[in-house]
Amino acid sequence: MIHADAKRRLIAVVGPKGFLDRPEDLLLYEYDGGVDKARPELVVFPRTTEDVVSIVKITAEYGIPIVGRGAGTGLSGGAIPRKGGVIIGFSRMNRILEIDLENERAVLQPGVVNLDITLAVQGQNYFYARVVVGREFAAPAVRPALDD
Ligand SMILES: Cc1cc2nc3c(=O)[nH]c(=O)nc-3n(C[C@H](O)[C@H](O)[C@H](O)COP(=O)(O)OP(=O)(O)OC[C@H]3O[C@@H](n4cnc5c(N)ncnc54)[C@H](O)[C@@H]3O)c2cc1C
Repeated sequence: MIHADAKRRLIAVVGPKGFLDRPEDLLLYEYDGGVDKARPELVVFPRTTEDVVSIVKITAEYGIPIVGRGAGTGLSGGAIPRKGGVIIGFSRMNRILEIDLENERAVLQPGVVNLDITLAVQGQNYFYARVVVGREFAAPAVRPALDD
């Protein structure tokens, strides 16, 4: 159970429209592309790195488990909150920060989806080819490379 003070502080970080806590909404975050299920108690949607830092500090202070979630398409249950707690949803951190075609690198926020990378470089003889079957899956948070 998330302490009321912790919840209040987390909501203060992300704002009144930056979280989900109703059972019918949390249902949507209890699974990913794998087979396991576990329901979080709260889902928060940071917009900035500073928001993420604040969320991590607050949850650490109260001993609340956290799980990061991009698009929830992972196939191994990595985005499942097995111990409940808080899901940090990155869908609002969806900006492409830099594209460096000369070196075939891009800097992305973790909520950027594959299709958006392709759209950003189309017409320049590039597309993001990592996931060929699902163009709206999220790009992996730590994989900046562009494939030609
Ligand atoms: C039908 C289908 C087909 C697929 N085909 C392919 C394919 O052809 N090639 C391929 O390579 N992959 C394929 N995948 C896998 C897909 O590419 C990955 O599931 C996707 O890249 C994961 O991104 P996500 O944002 O959905 O991650 P999530 O599922 O949300 O999370 C995956 C893991 O990363 C963690 N995480 C998420 N965001 C962060 C963050 N910001 N910081 C730290 N940790 C974080 C989560 O906690 C979790 O452990 C397929 C998946 C499906 C469902």
